[in-house]
Amino acid sequence: MIVGRPNVGKSTLFNRLTRSRRSIVGDEPGITRDRIEGQVEWRGRSFGITDTGGLLPGDEAEIPAAIFAQAQVALKSASAVVMVVDGRSELTAPDIELARLLRTSGKPVLLAVNKIEGRRAESTIGDFYQLGLEEVFPLSAEHGDGLDALLDRVIALLPAAAEAAADEPAVRETRVAIIGRPNVGKSTLLNCLLGEERSIVSPVAGTTRDAVDAVLIHGKTPYRFIDTAGIRRKGATHALAEKLSVVMARQHLERADLALVLIDGAAPEEGGVLALDATIAGYAFEAQRSCILVVNKWDAAQAMGRTQKELEQRVRERLKFLAFAPIVFVSARAGTGLPQLFAAMARVARERRKRITTAAMNRFLATVDFTRAPVPAGQRVRILYMAQVSLAPPQFVLFIDRARRLHFSYRRFLENQIRRAFGFEGTPILLKTRAGSRKHQ
Ligand code: GDP
Ligand code: GDP
Repeated sequence: MIVGRPNVGKSTLFNRLTRSRRSIVGDEPGITRDRIEGQVEWRGRSFGITDTGGLLPGDEAEIPAAIFAQAQVALKSASAVVMVVDGRSELTAPDIELARLLRTSGKPVLLAVNKIEGRRAESTIGDFYQLGLEEVFPLSAEHGDGLDALLDRVIALLPAAAEAAADEPAVRETRVAIIGRPNVGKSTLLNCLLGEERSIVSPVAGTTRDAVDAVLIHGKTPYRFIDTAGIRRKGATHALAEKLSVVMARQHLERADLALVLIDGAAPEEGGVLALDATIAGYAFEAQRSCILVVNKWDAAQAMGRTQKELEQRVRERLKFLAFAPIVFVSARAGTGLPQLFAAMARVARERRKRITTAAMNRFLATVDFTRAPVPAGQRVRILYMAQVSLAPPQFVLFIDRARRLHFSYRRFLENQIRRAFGFEGTPILLKTRAGSRKHQ
């Protein structure tokens, strides 16, 4: 639902989002009087929006009672409210009053600071934090700038799609893929994990009879281990087994939140990390899953005189792209290291769904010393503002002062700073940029 005082650009925003011309745009205050409904399609989701046509608190005398009542109804059924203000003018008393009212509505309120074209976001946006609304989106409805970030946030606030809602359990389960090359100990680890607690085997809808997940509850968190039958299946030949392990990793990752990437700590070659390990771990990274590196057969590795320190060094060196993933040492056969593994799973599942408020994000941004970023001259950009727009995995949008791709060392620097400040253990972090001049569509 879109609210705001007259002339801030609500109709323009509505038309831009719905790509239609259903409401009348004009300079005369309050020209849009009807509550107008439209449909928005974004990233495969579809949702309705309502332009309330200048709902103003304390303005009942001027606004026909019927419209005021309609707006109240719209507010009740809305998943999110977008309050629009005019970024080119000072805040007015009605803006402040409206924000106050919306804050008490119990609905998520996103503040759209409109009419910010070009590079003006930086100087203007600070004032609008006065409204006490955490989530601020600078944009230009007329030019189409900044709408992606707003839409991304709106869809994150929508209730899950009906079919997803139906089989979603009350407590969110974490879907776990156990992946790794043949003989790293996937089946043994699975048996060991499932043996510890009571588990429920549940058939997967729409798949062959032998694709069976196992769900187990550990410390109140349900974990769904994907395709247990597949994990136990063995290839007849070495080559077939290798192929099967890759195919299964890819399939299982599709349905997973979290991948346990198994490494054989006792493998004779290359200190435990083989090319196939790197390939399989690479799929987990590409699929943007959260990862835990599980070094198995720690009993045998120890007997070979290996230390955790040297194994960790090896793993880090060969799997640099998974630097964000914690390493846990286990012995699936002896059943050791499981408490540490469960603890890591709980942490990583939580971090994947963590949300940082825009205010906290921008307080953090102000503390980052970007002069320390190892970036070639000419590649520097200024980040005006940033916000987390989605989670699982967490994704951030950076508003930068000019349209250019972030240099990868700049990206890495920023990612490291974000991790230092906020953690996000085990999960990839996605950074997207928006420049003032970039257009929507
Ligand atoms: P509403 O009364 O809130 O629905 O506002 P309108 O959508 O009718 O817009 C009011 C005026 O602001 C119109 O003249 C629009 O052309 C203008 N306007 C809307 N969005 C923008 C924008 O992003 N930039 C600028 N410069 N003007 C805008
Ligand atoms: P998968 O092919 O990845 O499913 O591997 P399996 O679970 O079938 O294990 C392959 C072999 O490694 C079997 O002989 C297991 O007994 C052995 N194994 C698994 N985990 C461990 C462990 O923690 N320590 C030792 N020493 N052997 C293990």
